[in-house]
Amino acid sequence: MNIILFGPPGAGKGTQSEALAKDFSLFQISTGDLLREEIKKRSDLGNKIKSIIDKGMLVSDQTINNLIENILSNKKFDNRLIFDGYPRNINQAKDLDKLIKKYKQKIASVLSLNVDKSVITKRILGRQVCSNCGLTFNEFFKPANIKEHDCDPKFLQKRTDDNEKTIVSRLETYTKETLPILNYYKNQNLLYEVDGMGDIDEIYSKISQIIRSLDT
Ligand code: AMP
Repeated sequence: MNIILFGPPGAGKGTQSEALAKDFSLFQISTGDLLREEIKKRSDLGNKIKSIIDKGMLVSDQTINNLIENILSNKKFDNRLIFDGYPRNINQAKDLDKLIKKYKQKIASVLSLNVDKSVITKRILGRQVCSNCGLTFNEFFKPANIKEHDCDPKFLQKRTDDNEKTIVSRLETYTKETLPILNYYKNQNLLYEVDGMGDIDEIYSKISQIIRSLDT
């Protein structure tokens, strides 16, 4: 089954996807992570992507489509994907439908995490990503501890777009470009709304229950 985890920046999509991928043997596809990989290469494309991300805007649909087609065409991932932070606008949602059809796959459901703005800001400002193992933590809500994370604390880093100024434009972009996708999936009867305000385990239990109930 392919699942889309939908929600504003800082909703907890990454944290929940990491756990779902592990428990349901899915592959987490975060377009944000794939773009950050390109930035690390310091290629021309990577530099362009960095300046867009730091402004809180969306990277071009063409760039994203190429990344997604590479994944959907790979048999290893066949019908085992959890999309985290994709699609981000209506064109991407329509392009995804075309690719899903082309590679004979299916979207099983779209889970939308509803979270208040005040919580979003705190989650984003507290986020730390380990540059060694890729795991995500949060200074306020999920501090890294030895039991779950044995890399040196020096690897825990903040993302350059996780600052108060960029959060404002990321939220504007979300409201203007990403939010309209919800109706698109609602009309296809694929949408499940989940209260994303509780703690990580509470939210996880709601999401995993929905996934277990899917008839796939
Ligand atoms: P994220 O890691 O999902 O918070 O994404 C970080 C940034 O990467 C976003 O603010 C966008 O600039 C860019 N980005 C991530 N996914 C997409 C996408 N599907 N389409 C366009 N831009 C994206």
